[in-house]
Amino acid sequence: MSELERLARLEGDDLPVLRLRGVRKEFRGNTVLDGLDLDVPEHGVVVLIGASGSGKSTLLRCANLLEPISDGSIHLDGEHITDPRVDADRVRRRIGMVFQSFNLFPHMSVLDNISLAPRRVHRRERREVEQRALELLERVGLADKAREYPDRLSGGQQQRVAIVRALVNDPRLLLLDEVTSALDPELVGEVLSLVRDLREEGMTMLLATHEMGFARQVADTVCFLEGGRILEQGPPEQVLGEPEQPRTRQFLQRII
Ligand code: ADP
Ligand code: MG
Repeated sequence: MSELERLARLEGDDLPVLRLRGVRKEFRGNTVLDGLDLDVPEHGVVVLIGASGSGKSTLLRCANLLEPISDGSIHLDGEHITDPRVDADRVRRRIGMVFQSFNLFPHMSVLDNISLAPRRVHRRERREVEQRALELLERVGLADKAREYPDRLSGGQQQRVAIVRALVNDPRLLLLDEVTSALDPELVGEVLSLVRDLREEGMTMLLATHEMGFARQVADTVCFLEGGRILEQGPPEQVLGEPEQPRTRQFLQRII
């Protein structure tokens, strides 16, 4: 879709895909997320920035129900997913997540890596899953790697496979946690360009990155986290260009 069309769709006051309200997370009495409110609108791209330890990964892991929250609530398409009665696997089928380290299984082919969870956890048919996996591999330029093992692929290719794996259930939301930080500099571009393509296709995303140039390109909203709180949020031009908070300014000066 065109940029204008994407922005127009963001303007509506529809239900956000992801909504966090008062989210707190403690690890043994240590507060890591401190009452977060955050909305990710449909087709929107929200980028989390902040120093190491500020809570970015924890936020993403809580959104995917990999960590239970200590207080507050998370809604996905209006459904209260942090209700303890909710089936986490059913929720995760609607959320794709990609980690810094690609976490591919070394003893399984690319195709098996992608189709394992949909088949075993989500009980989808092998044929249907593999067909979707092959379509996606084609789209990311890796159709010829379907039968290869991960160690035959470059880091950038492995990370693109991990992104395909996150997309194979056609999720409502994609969570990306510093997906380029484990890559050699010359391989970063191919992964970032795939994320930019997904944005243009209207994929709703919440991502953590320390690549400020990339944040500026893809974000509709940038959130600066510190000590598990959102200290400042707004359009990238504002938060990255003219930050209001001295803490944000300090962080940006250190990182750029
Ligand atoms: P970021 O991704 O921004 O670097 P994290 O979310 O990884 O930050 O970490 C935020 C804080 O939570 C850090 O102080 C970290 O030590 C702590 N933390 C993260 N995971 C755990 C865990 N499983 N147990 C205890 N403390 C944790
Ligand atoms: Mg992290």
